[in-house]
Amino acid sequence: MDRYCVFGNPIAHSKSPDIHAAFAAQTGQQLSYERRLAPLDGFAAAVQDFIAEGGKGANVTVPFKLEAVKVAQALTIRARAAGAVNTLHFTDEGIIGDNTDGVGLVADIVRNAGVPITGKRVLLLGAGGAARGVVLPILEYRPAQLVIANRTVATAEALVEQFAALGGEGVVSACGYAEIQGAYDIIINATSASLSAELPPVPASVFAPEALALDMMYGAQPTVFLQFAAQHGARLRDGLGMLVEQAAEAFSLWRGVQPETAAVLKALREQL
Ligand code: NDP
Repeated sequence: MDRYCVFGNPIAHSKSPDIHAAFAAQTGQQLSYERRLAPLDGFAAAVQDFIAEGGKGANVTVPFKLEAVKVAQALTIRARAAGAVNTLHFTDEGIIGDNTDGVGLVADIVRNAGVPITGKRVLLLGAGGAARGVVLPILEYRPAQLVIANRTVATAEALVEQFAALGGEGVVSACGYAEIQGAYDIIINATSASLSAELPPVPASVFAPEALALDMMYGAQPTVFLQFAAQHGARLRDGLGMLVEQAAEAFSLWRGVQPETAAVLKALREQL
């Protein structure tokens, strides 16, 4: 049986084994998928051990996504653009590093929420690893505008420098929270503020009528950002759909079969 796993530290909370088991059952694929706690100073060795045991691929979560870039012998374009790897594929040609987080996010917005990105105004809050991974997949949908707002403006500006040429003239820009202007159709919270129940200091005016507010974090209760967005009339989405969609993309990469995500997302939601 082909073996896969997810590496992280901590890892006990990971929902990835449940998601991949559901995909395998649904598509009739024979595989196992386990959680692997890698030591903080032993990620590369843990990957090599898993390969020696016959592992075919792995997901990578906090705090190893940057280190996984170095472990990979080749990177996909989107992994290179993100500067982070969440999916490893162990092939005869070596270890391929991919990043499916960003495509997972846009799949959740476009397919699951039914909200088009093309021609829309998008506000991305945060410029850390998660934000960086979604810039290229968002630009592939040709938004009218992509504004990246971050507490440390220089980090957002560095992202704009990296991606400006791909967005078209004037499409991608950076600012601090105090400089955010206008209303947006899609507002994505890619900061880690929700982890400490903090609200990024966005003005209420950012929510256009019918706007979609998405927080990459998920949990049983809406985050403070989603509560704020609800008070200003936005449609809400948490990060659970992104989690399931990034897993579906990894599964498809490994197995060559695209799983259905709706039922898996529903089952996961009921377990929160
Ligand atoms: P990073 O540590 O790389 O980046 C954190 C970002 O949040 C930075 O832009 C930082 O700004 C900003 N930030 C932190 N605290 C605050 C605050 N109080 N107010 C405003 N901005 C703040 O984290 P990641 O990018 O890796 O992760 C971000 C979030 O995305 C996490 O909550 C994570 O759980 C979630 N995530 C969800 C996924 C999913 O599948 N649903 C996948 C990946 C991530 P500054 O630069 O100024 O420090």
